[in-house]
Amino acid sequence: MDRQQEFVLRTIEERDIRFVRLWFTDVLGMLKSVAVAPAELEGAFAEGIGFDGSSIEGLARVFEADMLVLPDASTFQILPWRGESPGTARLFADIRLPDNTASAADPRFVLQRALTKAADKGLTFYTHPEIEFYLFEQRTSTDTPPVPVDNAGFFDHVPHGTAHDFRRAAITMLESMGISVEFSHHEAGPGQNEIDLRYADALSTADNIMTFRTVIKEVALEQGIFASFMPKPLANHPGSGMHTHVSLFEGDRNAFHEAGAPYQLSRTGKHFIAGILRHACEISAVTNQWVNSYKRMWGGAEAPAHVCWGHNNRSAMVRVPMHKPGKDQSTRIEVRSLDAAANPYLAYAVMLAAGMKGIEEEYELPPEAEDDVWNLTDRERRSLGIDPLPASLDHAIHLMENSELVAETLGEHVFDFFLRNKKAEWAAYRDQVTQFELDQYLHRP
Ligand code: GLU
Ligand code: MG
Ligand code: MG
Repeated sequence: MDRQQEFVLRTIEERDIRFVRLWFTDVLGMLKSVAVAPAELEGAFAEGIGFDGSSIEGLARVFEADMLVLPDASTFQILPWRGESPGTARLFADIRLPDNTASAADPRFVLQRALTKAADKGLTFYTHPEIEFYLFEQRTSTDTPPVPVDNAGFFDHVPHGTAHDFRRAAITMLESMGISVEFSHHEAGPGQNEIDLRYADALSTADNIMTFRTVIKEVALEQGIFASFMPKPLANHPGSGMHTHVSLFEGDRNAFHEAGAPYQLSRTGKHFIAGILRHACEISAVTNQWVNSYKRMWGGAEAPAHVCWGHNNRSAMVRVPMHKPGKDQSTRIEVRSLDAAANPYLAYAVMLAAGMKGIEEEYELPPEAEDDVWNLTDRERRSLGIDPLPASLDHAIHLMENSELVAETLGEHVFDFFLRNKKAEWAAYRDQVTQFELDQYLHRP
C-alpha cells in the first residue's frame, strides 16, 4: 500500500466515513458510481472490486462482463452535499479486466493512454475549461420549453438573484472538494452561467469536470431549481459551450511560449493549432457528441461553426488569448468548439492527439482569420480556405468513421461502440416528424 492509500484509509477512520463511492464514466460521459463499505477499500486498492460491466453503456460485451474497479487514491474527496454528509467519500476508479490489465472501454484509460504518448515525448497536457450551463425552474416534463430562473445577461450583477446565490453555493462546494475556480459570471442567455476552473493536468481536469457537473446539479436541487448542460436548450438564446484553454509543458517550461514571436506563440504552439484545425471535423462527433450539439454550433451567438483561428476573434474556432507581459507560463490556446455535454476524457484525448499530430508532422498554420467569419459569404470563406464544421451529428459520424486519428486514439472498442451508439441516436432523431415539418408542409398544396 502506498502513502496516498494509507492517508485515505486513515482519513476514512478519523472522519467516520460510512460509505465510499467509486466513480467512473461510461463511453458517453455519464457518471457511474458503486458504493463500497470502508472495510472493503484496502482490498479494493490491492485487487479492485468486481462488478458486471455488461449493464453499463459501452463498457463490455456480455461474454466479457466481469470487470474490476480500481480506486485512484489521489482522487479521494469527502462529499460535502446534504444527505451525503457526514460520512460519504468518493474516489475516481480505473476499470480493469479480471487479469488486471486496463479496460480498453474505460474513457479515463483512453485519456491516460493519449497522455502517456505525449509524456513519452516529454510533454504534459494542461487544460482549463470554461463551463457554461443554464439554470431553469424545476419541472418534471419536457413537453414545454424550460423556463430560465432569471432574465439577466452577460456579466450582469443581480444582487440577491438566484444565479448569484447559486454560484456562491456552488463555488464554495467545489472549493471544498479541492476544485479551484478561477472566474464565474452570468452568461449571455437568461439563466445562463459560466464557471471557469483553474488549469490542471488534463486527467485531473476531466475528473474535475465530472465532479463539477454533479456538484452543479446537486446545488441546483438544493435550491429548488435545476441545472442543464444541454448544448442548446433554448432556440433563441446562446448554447452552452465548454471552451477549453490548453497548453503543453516540457518540464517547467511552457512549450507554447516563445518570447518575441507573434502572440509569443512558439512553433510547437503553431503546429498544435494546425493539428487541431486540420482534424477538427473528424473529431467533431467526440467534442460535440449529441444531435443537439449541432444546434448550438450553427446557432450563432459566439459558438464557432468554421475551422479557423484568430487572436481576438470570437467567431474563430481556436483563439490565441492576449499575452500578458511577464506571464510567459500562461501562453495558451483556447479551443472553442467543445460543448458542455462532451465526455471530457474522450474529448481531451482526441484534441491532444490532433494537436500532437500537428507537432509530429509539422503542419503549417494557415493564416489567421481577422474578420467575423459568420459575416462572410460561403464563397469568401472558401477563398480564405475556411471550411465549415460538420452540419449535423450525421455528418460528423461519417467524417469520424474514416478517421485513422480518432480510431487510433479511442481504440477499437470505444471507436466501434461510439459509432454504433451515435448512428442509433441519429436514426431515432431522423424518425421524428417535428413541429417544424408540420408547420411547413402540412398545408402546402
Ligand atoms: N455560449 C457561447 C458558446 O456556446 C460562448 C460565449 C463566450 O464566448 O463565452 O460557445
Ligand atoms: Mg462564456
Ligand atoms: Mg471563451
